[in-house]
Amino acid sequence: MEKNPLRICMLSSEAVPFAKTGGLADVASALSTSLARGGHDVRLFLPLYQRVQEAGFPFERVEALTDIEVTAGSRSYVFTAFQSRLPRSETSAYLLHCNDLYGRDGLYTSDDDEHLRFGLFTRAVLECCQRMEFAPDVFHLNDWHTALLPLYLKGPYAWDELFASSKTLLTIHNIGYQGLFPIEAVADLGLDDVRKHLYQEDVADGVLSFLKTGILYADLLSTVSETYALEIQTETFGMGLHELLAGRSGSLVGIVNGVDYDEWSPEKDEKIPFHFSRDDLTGKEQNKRALLDDLRLPFDRDVPVMGVVSRMATQKGFDLMFEVLPRILAERDLRLCVLGSGEERYERFFQWLASEFPTKVGYDTAFNDRLAHMIEAGSDLFLMPSRYEPCGLNQMYSLRYGTVPIVRKTGGLADTVTQFDPETGEGTGFVFEDYSPEGLRWALELALSLWPNREAWARLVQNGMSRDFSWDHQAERYVKVYRELVES
Ligand code: ADP
Repeated sequence: MEKNPLRICMLSSEAVPFAKTGGLADVASALSTSLARGGHDVRLFLPLYQRVQEAGFPFERVEALTDIEVTAGSRSYVFTAFQSRLPRSETSAYLLHCNDLYGRDGLYTSDDDEHLRFGLFTRAVLECCQRMEFAPDVFHLNDWHTALLPLYLKGPYAWDELFASSKTLLTIHNIGYQGLFPIEAVADLGLDDVRKHLYQEDVADGVLSFLKTGILYADLLSTVSETYALEIQTETFGMGLHELLAGRSGSLVGIVNGVDYDEWSPEKDEKIPFHFSRDDLTGKEQNKRALLDDLRLPFDRDVPVMGVVSRMATQKGFDLMFEVLPRILAERDLRLCVLGSGEERYERFFQWLASEFPTKVGYDTAFNDRLAHMIEAGSDLFLMPSRYEPCGLNQMYSLRYGTVPIVRKTGGLADTVTQFDPETGEGTGFVFEDYSPEGLRWALELALSLWPNREAWARLVQNGMSRDFSWDHQAERYVKVYRELVES
């Protein structure tokens, strides 16, 4: 237990088990839980989306945080906080209800008031802190959605002594999403008085960038792997923000995400039918059979199963698969189990692949947590050829489930998977460098040609399963960073 516990206010647009579209949800929840386990006072805030409200989680309305009015331009919005607990933890999650903003389908929208849905959420969190008289040592912000908070502290909330010593850390989980809005949003968000602090070139261009504002004013920046921290300072990966980030390189750290092994461990995973461990992999083969049954594909112990679980976005490297997968499926005996939805051209590709190779390829477009766990547990290989990958979680889940990752050497993939060398028996997966169909094909061929060598394969599986990316370890790195911030 910590001698000097910290007060952390964590803001995120998603957190498991309530709302999830990607890795951010896993991270926000698991990091909060881990910090709280270490004795810190962590309060996690997220919006109470309609679908979360309907999902039947146990919530309690917080009397002191009821009917909080936040004014935006000529309109007022009323927020009420509902408190819940994170699973297997005493950590408080505060879900902010505001029907006008969150009473619609989905977590994210392309509606005209998207800037208000997250900008005002950020303000509402500050209002909650005031009412709870909670003076965070650190506001931990995640992605563009909450990146305006440092500017709110500098502007409309600068008067409040409660926040006088609070520091801000902005974690960039994916620089591809920046929260860009027409400049009129500034008035809506109550930021007219601090307009001069905005990035003036953007203002001249009529744009408000949430993320850029956060990058300018957060006390410290972090991202979710060491390699990605370097990559985003380059033109190739910086999505237009590389110069700004390079200018703040002294205040930018990379910390690889941890894995929530309570959720993702083959020994106790509640979403898979057969448990297994490093010492006894019998259950893995049973899961393989169950997975293939689920997707109506024939089981054969000697035929490798390759899994994909992913948002179907360009970032994830699907373009490389267009050329490589049809050929490899035609040439090789292989099963491919794919789960994910997103851009239509990718969905159509996998639908086509499943119809072209009906005994080899299964595809499900649902968001299906159980199937995601099944694919990790039942596959032999996991494919993640990302164009860029800030951290990536699935490759780390794969390692724990004895499912060998095939990844491109970028971002967190480069930091967590190492190339297997059959000579030395070292390494945990297959890593290709060049973002090209040839690169992917090289890695796939290497993996498939090692597969029949049972001894080498078993060694590779053991190497992966013994890697430890637990949050307790990674959370310590955040604590160190928080302390440096507080003492600065
Ligand atoms: P990103 O955050 O860029 O989407 P990550 O690898 O960091 O990528 O995290 C993705 C998370 O979302 C993983 O936990 C993965 O299992 C989950 N996921 C993605 N698509 C689906 C889906 N269709 N069904 C269930 N889980 C999914």
